Amino acid sequence: MANTKYVFVTGGVSSSLGKGIIAASLAKLLQARGYRVTIQKFDPYINVDPGTLNPYEHGECYVTDDGAETDLDLGHYERFLNVPTSQANNVTTGRIYQSVIEKERRGEFLGKTVQVVPHITNEIKERIQILGKTGDYDIIITEIGGTVGDIESLPYIESVRQLKWELGDTNALVIHLTLVPYLSAAGELKTKPTQHSVKTLMESGIKADVLVCRTEHELSQELRRKLALFCNVKPEAVIQSIDANSIYAVPNLMLEEGLDKVVLKQLVLRDDDAPNLEKWNGFLNRLENATSKVTIGLIGKYVELQDSYKSILEAFIHAGVENDVKVTIESIHSEYIDDATIKEKIAHLDGILVAPGFGERGIEGKIKAVQFARENNLPFFGICLGMQMAVIEYTRNVLGLKDACSVEVDENTKVPVINLMEEQKDITELGGTMRLGAWDCQLVENTIASNAYNNSLISERHRHRYEYNNAYKDQLEKAGLKTTGINPKTGLVEIIEISTHPWFVGVQYHPEYKSTVANPHPLFVSFIKAVKKYSQQK
Ligand code: GLN
Repeated sequence: MANTKYVFVTGGVSSSLGKGIIAASLAKLLQARGYRVTIQKFDPYINVDPGTLNPYEHGECYVTDDGAETDLDLGHYERFLNVPTSQANNVTTGRIYQSVIEKERRGEFLGKTVQVVPHITNEIKERIQILGKTGDYDIIITEIGGTVGDIESLPYIESVRQLKWELGDTNALVIHLTLVPYLSAAGELKTKPTQHSVKTLMESGIKADVLVCRTEHELSQELRRKLALFCNVKPEAVIQSIDANSIYAVPNLMLEEGLDKVVLKQLVLRDDDAPNLEKWNGFLNRLENATSKVTIGLIGKYVELQDSYKSILEAFIHAGVENDVKVTIESIHSEYIDDATIKEKIAHLDGILVAPGFGERGIEGKIKAVQFARENNLPFFGICLGMQMAVIEYTRNVLGLKDACSVEVDENTKVPVINLMEEQKDITELGGTMRLGAWDCQLVENTIASNAYNNSLISERHRHRYEYNNAYKDQLEKAGLKTTGINPKTGLVEIIEISTHPWFVGVQYHPEYKSTVANPHPLFVSFIKAVKKYSQQK
C-alpha cells in the first residue's frame, strides 16, 4: 500500500473563515509540485447530506458526477484542482450514524454496547481513510466542518487525535485556521482568541502543527513570534492569511507564506522544486487585466445569500477570463419582477441567467424575465428551473397556451409542459431521490450547444425531478423552440434553443458544477462571448 499522508484542517474562533479555500489552496500548491492530492470534507450536522437543506441554511448544494449532493466546498476543490470529487469526499454525522445504526441492526456489533467511542469514531476514521487506501493519492486533506469546541465536532476531533497517534507525526498533520481580529479602538491585532482556540484543541489532545491566521492586517514578526510561543508551534508554522481580492489569489499568498513547505517538511516529503503554477498564474493575470466589462442579471430567489449560487458565480469568473471581460453580476430577486418593474430591472443588462430553484415562489417573475430576453434579443441562459421557465414562457406566449405551467407549481395544470418524470411518480421520500449526477446528452449539429462544446456527446450533472414534456415537443419545435440536446437512452430533453435569437439557451442540467479554472465551461464561455458582443453593439 502506498504511504498516503494525511493533513487535517480544523477551524477555531469563528465560522466562515474559509477553511475550504485554505484546504483547496494548499492542495493546489501540492498538486503543482507533482503530488496526487484530494480533499474531503466531514460535516458535523445530522442531515445525511445537504440535499434537503434550503440554500439559505448552507449555501448551494453541489453535485458530483456520481450523484452525491454535497457541501459547496467540494465545488472549490474541483475548481482549484480540476479533479472530480465523489460521494466519498463528503461525509456528514448523519451518514456516519446511519451506517453505524444499520450495522447494529444487522448484528455486526453483537453483544456490545454501541457507543460514540469507539463505534462512531471508528466509522469516522474508516471513512477518512477510504480514499487514502485506494492508492490513488499521495496526500489526503480532510477539512473538519464547524468550529473546535462545538459539541457536534467532538467525535471528529477525537478521531483526528486517534489517527494522528496511529499514523505518527510524519504521516499526519493538523492545520488550525483561526482569526486574528483587529480592534480599531485599540489599533491592534489581538492574539488571545487564537490562543484560546488552540488551547481548546489541546484539551481534546490535539496539538496544532500549523496555524493559519485570517487577518485584515499584516502580522508583524513580533506578533508571529508571540503566536508561535503561546500556541506551541514552530515560528515558520505561523501562516498569515490576509484578505484577498479573489479566492484564486490565495494559493500564491500561501506560497509566499511557505504553507506548502511547512507541510511537506513535517510529512518528510520532497520540497525542493518550485511548484509549477504557470497556467494558474496565466489565469490570474487575465483575471486582473480584463479589457472590457459586462453586466449580467442573475435572476433567482435566494439572491440575498451569495453562496446560494456559488458555482454559477465562479463559472462566470472562469468564462469572463476566457473572453477577456470582467463579468459583474447583478442579483435580481424574481419575486419583485412584474410588468411594472421589468424594464427598470432588466433593460440595462447585457444578458440574463435564470437560476435553478425549487417550488412556486418567484416563478412568474422568472417567466417575465425570459419573455423580456426573448422579445428583446437579450442573451438568455436558463439553468434547470430556468430552462423549465423558458419552455413555459414559449408555450404560453408563442404557442398561445396560456395555462401552460409546471406540475411542480400547479399539480392540476391543463397544459403540463413541464411534467414529473415517470420514475419520480412513485417516490415518496425527498432525500437523495432526484435525478442526480452525470448523464449523457446527444447534441444536434450546428447549434449553439454543439458549436460551444465542439463535441456531439457530452456528459453533465443533474439535480431535478421535473422534465420537459415530450408531448409538446413537435408543437414547440415547429414554433421555433428547438431541442438541441437529448438523453440518448431516455429521450429526455436536455437543451432547448431559439435559433433566430442571438443567444437563447436553456439546459436541464447544471453546467456550472463542471466549470474549473483549468477548464472553463464551454456553454458559459459561449454565453459570455454573446453577452460581450451584445454589450458592444448596444
Ligand atoms: N425544481 C425543478 C425540478 O425539480 C428544477 C430543479 C433545479 O433547478 N435544480 O425539476
